[in-house]
Amino acid sequence: MSLFRPASITCPACDTLIEVEESDSVNADRRPDLREAIIDGTFQQMNCPSCDVQIRLEPQFNYLEVGQSLWIAVFPPRMMPEYIEVEDSITDVFDNAYGKHAQPSARVIGDDLDVRLVFGWPALREKLVVRAAGLDDTLVELLKLDLMRRLPEAELGTGRELRVLAVDDDVLSFAWILPETETEMERFACDRALYDAIAGNPDGWAPIRAQLTDGPFVDMQKLYMGEGRDAAE
Ligand SMILES: [Zn+2]
Repeated sequence: MSLFRPASITCPACDTLIEVEESDSVNADRRPDLREAIIDGTFQQMNCPSCDVQIRLEPQFNYLEVGQSLWIAVFPPRMMPEYIEVEDSITDVFDNAYGKHAQPSARVIGDDLDVRLVFGWPALREKLVVRAAGLDDTLVELLKLDLMRRLPEAELGTGRELRVLAVDDDVLSFAWILPETETEMERFACDRALYDAIAGNPDGWAPIRAQLTDGPFVDMQKLYMGEGRDAAE
């Protein structure tokens, strides 16, 4: 089921109180239109009835697409610094819905699902684009780390993050994005051969891959935030 919850937000431009329906869960198998709206950037977007300014709600919902073996918990970018706590809480949510505490019929579905946690609309969109292109999202994160070493001008920080926009035959298109406002900075493209080279060297990348996949937040930004899960335990 795709569920919505009533909520009210304040227009950032004119302070009008607006009644909205916030997404609580998206079932993309039953509602492919919602998946398309996520891809084209219009999901949970509206105009203020008073001043017409464009507003997009903060994402906080679960996304299910059995056809692509994906279950994604989506949270606002401002919560990324607490990713370890959020990872633990969404692991519980998944276990109750499709994992070890779920009904057998749900567990059968859950066995085929990859569990992911993302912060912000661009990160969610990227996971869908990468999966639809048949790429491994963990390898894509390793590719980003590789690219940052190759591009001297590349830098994380001040909320900038690197996201895949599109995958066409032999080219991955990237953009630096400010996730809170979805503001796009520079774009660049990279040859798929770089991705294939990482895929062909699993041993060389194994230690970093292990760090990236120690929880459902599979994102290279976790390597830049604190000491990680081992230090927290
Ligand atoms: Zn307004």
